[in-house]
Amino acid sequence: MNNRRELLKAMALLPLAACTRAVDINDTTDSPQPGPSPAGWLPVDKDLNLQKVKIKKVKAILTAPYGIELVIVKVETDQPGLHGIGCATFRQRALTVASAVDDYLDDFCRDKDVSNIEDIWQTAYVSSYWRNGPVLNNALSGLDQALWDIKGKMAGMPVYQLLGGKTRFAVDTYTSASGRTPEACMDNVANFREQGYRHIRIQLGGYGATHLSEHPPYKDHGFGHPDDNTMDPQAYKRGIVELFRLARKKFGDGIEFLHDMHERLEPMDAIDLIKKLEEYRPFFIEDPFSPENMGWFKMLRQQSSVPIAMGELFNNPHEWIEPMSQRMYDFIRIHISQIGGITPAMKVARLGEWFNVRTAWHGPRDTSPVGHAANAHIDLAIWNFGIQEGKSWNDLTHEVFPGAPKIENGYLFVNEAPGLGIDIDEEKAKKYSLPNYNYKWTQVRKADGTPVRP
Ligand code: MG
Repeated sequence: MNNRRELLKAMALLPLAACTRAVDINDTTDSPQPGPSPAGWLPVDKDLNLQKVKIKKVKAILTAPYGIELVIVKVETDQPGLHGIGCATFRQRALTVASAVDDYLDDFCRDKDVSNIEDIWQTAYVSSYWRNGPVLNNALSGLDQALWDIKGKMAGMPVYQLLGGKTRFAVDTYTSASGRTPEACMDNVANFREQGYRHIRIQLGGYGATHLSEHPPYKDHGFGHPDDNTMDPQAYKRGIVELFRLARKKFGDGIEFLHDMHERLEPMDAIDLIKKLEEYRPFFIEDPFSPENMGWFKMLRQQSSVPIAMGELFNNPHEWIEPMSQRMYDFIRIHISQIGGITPAMKVARLGEWFNVRTAWHGPRDTSPVGHAANAHIDLAIWNFGIQEGKSWNDLTHEVFPGAPKIENGYLFVNEAPGLGIDIDEEKAKKYSLPNYNYKWTQVRKADGTPVRP
């Protein structure tokens, strides 16, 4: 197969050549050929004998080129130059994930056949016996994405090709516009619209809409922490209705608006707000309830036709299988770098296809560019793609992550190099050590100080 050899040689000329150096997979002299005699079988292309590539090391790389603690998993093989990377980022527990990778997954993966992604996934998944939680899920996600990256490099194809090829030319994304007032938010909407975005998520105030209640009674009494945010549910509801009213008045109907409720409201307040937003035709409303409140979806669906997106906090398949099959939401929004990577995400996407649940993978800033690449490769391949939360990065980040996806006119494009099309420059990554090992999630409280669940 000279064509194939030439393809592998040509890979060496690509920008990512350093990490995709042609692998000599023709040498099968010491590779056992298991199974029955090949007599009478079709000839085997020796180039495609990938059985001898083994995992030599799995390690975590911590870096923060744009100020957010990123955890990258790198899988090294016994083939010089052949490695893969994946995103295991869990900002609030970065060191714990790194330990799960370095202290457990590395040993677990040593000498395993790099080709058998499903087998490695299934056995790693139960290797701790207890499973389906964050941290271990994140570590598994990084490993899984790295294995797909390697498989793509060995095949000489972008990962989306291995998943079935493209069903769209690029990945349509949304971005988020926020402001302390509806008017300030509209200025940001105008700015993003000029950049070509067709979908814009509109938010009011900080996370938890703290500005709507600046002097909550609990702070006057020294309760909680000075940095805690406060949720005033009725002020928030009035603010968001006004935000949508103004957005439609200023920008008309030829643009899509989204909103994330961040699970903050009591269930009946959430349903009440969604009903009030119906006349402004949201593209979707995200996270109306916390994962502990799944039982309220049925009531919401009986009362409103507003499309709903849900799932970024889901850890366990049991959290999404039943609601998807019952059509409790329109967009599944799992965090691929937290549920176990590309392998389970493809299964979730395929499950959704049969219930017309579309995807809207979670894509915040605390997903690394590697994780965004993984999201995008799936987005390109699946039929029931809905929308992607997109992010852009500074030049520094593109230096640390050569080949990172890029957004133009709201469309996200992946680097077409084999694998995920992205690599990490470890020397540069080292320069940007984690800024704060004690990063804490912002606690939101009610006026009397009661903690609110996200
Ligand atoms: Mg959300």
